[in-house]
Amino acid sequence: MTGNLSIEAIVSGVRNGDKRSAAQLMSMVEKAAPESQECLKALAQGKGQSHVVGVTGWPGVGKSTLICAVAASFLNAGKQVGVIAVDPTSPLSGGSFLGDRARMRKIDGDERLFIRSMATRGFRGGIATATSSFVRIMEAMGKEVVIVETVGIGQDQVSVAGVADTLIVTVIPGMGDYLQALKAGIMEMGDIFVVNKADRKGVDQVVMDLTMMRSMNDRQDDWIPPIVKTIAQRGEGVAELMSAIELHRDHIAKLGLASLKRTAAAKGEIVETLKDRCFQFINGRTGLDEKLEQFALQVVNGTIDRHTLVESILRDAGIID
Ligand code: GDP
Repeated sequence: MTGNLSIEAIVSGVRNGDKRSAAQLMSMVEKAAPESQECLKALAQGKGQSHVVGVTGWPGVGKSTLICAVAASFLNAGKQVGVIAVDPTSPLSGGSFLGDRARMRKIDGDERLFIRSMATRGFRGGIATATSSFVRIMEAMGKEVVIVETVGIGQDQVSVAGVADTLIVTVIPGMGDYLQALKAGIMEMGDIFVVNKADRKGVDQVVMDLTMMRSMNDRQDDWIPPIVKTIAQRGEGVAELMSAIELHRDHIAKLGLASLKRTAAAKGEIVETLKDRCFQFINGRTGLDEKLEQFALQVVNGTIDRHTLVESILRDAGIID
């Protein structure tokens, strides 16, 4: 199912930077349509390399406002820019997204900008893998910078953050307890910390908390994540943030870290893709998808344990004896 464009038309459209072709391919990726794999395979050859900037943080911290400002700065610098918002339909980010769509529209008219949100509801494949496919599509379109927005909560979102070359973790004053809770997860991955809403009380405290956290973080890459204060609404601190992004890009380029990060992310993607293909293979042989509900009930009822069940499925599919 390729909608109204053929695979060849989609591939050449994406290569020419056509937004309609890209949007169609992204919808196919979301639906896990087999043709999307053909397109992605074709696009993988001779693709460019974009700088992937992740922006993560709790809903309402001002990510979308910041992204608008950062995207506008990149556009002003003459760059081609892509923006991917992961799960804007989540109840966590729902309300604020409508608002930022309106803000986005100010720069949305720019031909060099392509904004796409990614639905993650009812997704069986890994969200990180799908995000990575979206990034590759943007890359094939010739986007030099791809900004990925995530809320950074939960394992899925943490793995999406792994897709970024430069990860910006956004916090606001008054988030001390929240930082503690996140310590083991996304905070350790941050390459740049932004304290947004610096017009509010408690900025110094949150900067102190971040400085403390940063000193305890045992990074292997010789990079001390800068802490940048912003008032995104007014564009204050955005120039400093842009400098920090450039510095980090130069740093990872110099040390060849971009490829290390990408290798780590690719490992996860290979495993996810393998899982997906294995499921499809087994489903093709045994009709697993239709029986899944019944199997789940049996496991819940204690009629069978899931390991024994999986072994019997693998036997049915002829994978084990
Ligand atoms: P997101 O959910 O993280 O994408 O947050 P939004 O960008 O939608 O921002 C949430 C709200 O905070 C909006 O009403 C913004 O106008 C507001 N906001 C963004 N930046 C600032 C800031 O620097 N200071 C203040 N006071 N409000 C801000």
